Amino acid sequence: SVALPKPAHRRTLTIANQKGGVGKTTTAVNMAAALALQGLTVLVVDLDPQGNASTALGVEHHSGVPSSYEVLIGEVSARAAIQQSPHSERLFCIPATIDLAGAEIELVSMVAREGRLKTALTDLDDIDADFVLIDCPPSLGLLTVNALVAASEVLIPIQCEYYALEGVGQLLRNIELVQAHLNPALHVSTVILTMYDGRTKLADQVAEEVRKHFGDAVLRAVIPRSVKVSEAPGYGMTVLDYDPGSRGAMSYLDAGRELAARSAVATSDGTQEQ
Ligand code: ADP
Ligand code: MG
Repeated sequence: SVALPKPAHRRTLTIANQKGGVGKTTTAVNMAAALALQGLTVLVVDLDPQGNASTALGVEHHSGVPSSYEVLIGEVSARAAIQQSPHSERLFCIPATIDLAGAEIELVSMVAREGRLKTALTDLDDIDADFVLIDCPPSLGLLTVNALVAASEVLIPIQCEYYALEGVGQLLRNIELVQAHLNPALHVSTVILTMYDGRTKLADQVAEEVRKHFGDAVLRAVIPRSVKVSEAPGYGMTVLDYDPGSRGAMSYLDAGRELAARSAVATSDGTQEQ
């Protein structure tokens, strides 16, 4: 990694939804790859013990590799845990190993337990990353709370399926609590619709309901359900590397452009979007 001045408008997004299988990890790695293709430098912090984001980015994450676990407990600096993805010179990852599985419990008795990731990431203030994307586990425990404290934006992936909004209310209440007590800057800046199946009426109904609820926070780009998207991690790749011309890749490219354009708006008038 390169030591360059911190970009004036580095954005840190936490990708959260306590429901499993809604596309958090898929969105984290493919958004990261899409942003990198635009010339932006992106760091993905893998906070899920499953390490699926680390797998998709092609970085080492067997037990013992310096990872988000050692960073959280203060054994290793964030800088020392960063690896470059073999697929892009602008894509970096702090991996998660299975060692993170016990962290949720270990953190309970630690000093400043909710702010440990935020503190650790200040180590990267002089590193040239335009975006930091934090991939959360499917729960609202201390790992997700650490992610919410370390970010200013939340990106919520919502699967275009039955019960899509189930649990979102609970997530929003947690975000409000973190905002009130730990991180006043936190806000839901972005919602992305995933696994959209245009052949079903249901997908459209869900999309409409989500847009009614979240308004402009919802990206116009919608991610279709696509076999290529689900195959890519098996090859240690994002879909943008695995099949760049596929609909899944194109839709994540569009989503990445929208996300970056929003920061351009924020830069030009000095206000925070949303
Ligand atoms: P989460 O991180 O929220 O648990 P994942 O990103 O791991 O969810 O996605 C859950 C599963 O769905 C994975 O097997 C993934 O490959 C698959 N998947 C995600 N997005 C898509 C998509 N757009 N089309 C098809 N399969 C997808
Ligand atoms: Mg995941």
